[in-house]
Amino acid sequence: MDTVDESTRSYIMSRVGQKNTGPEILLRSSLHAAGLRYRLHDRGLPGSPDLVFPRFHTVAFVHGCYWHSHGCYRSTVPKSRQEFWTEKFDANRGRDERNLRLLRQGGWRVLTVWECALRGKTARLSFEIADTVKAWLVSSDGVGEIAGIPLTSSVLTLQGATLIDHG
Ligand SMILES: [Zn+2]
Repeated sequence: MDTVDESTRSYIMSRVGQKNTGPEILLRSSLHAAGLRYRLHDRGLPGSPDLVFPRFHTVAFVHGCYWHSHGCYRSTVPKSRQEFWTEKFDANRGRDERNLRLLRQGGWRVLTVWECALRGKTARLSFEIADTVKAWLVSSDGVGEIAGIPLTSSVLTLQGATLIDHG
């Protein structure tokens, strides 16, 4: 029997069911508004990529920063049972790396869009995300990722805004 305390359990439950949830919908609506078309959840490919752009031989994943250990402010290890969680996150990372390798071997280009680029305090603007994806699709890069705005520069922006506000 696996025992976790109540707060850890609700933390887990709030993150179950990653498909078709917030960040993925945000990305899809940005891309759709920009006229990009794609297929969804191709279960025939390693890792069931969230989006597939067949014309560009590209697949895209929308990764939750928490489950996929992005290393940004959204990826923290719960305070209780740290060893258990660290192992779990390592396993997720290992799976991601394996899927990436298999996709590359199959001739696919792989773009990862992180949750922190799509929502929260480091989120980028919707059209900026779409423009970046468009540019990447026509590039010759094999592997790419889009993450949130680095926190230091958003702090600088906020400080700048404050200075302007108060003359
Ligand atoms: Zn992140």
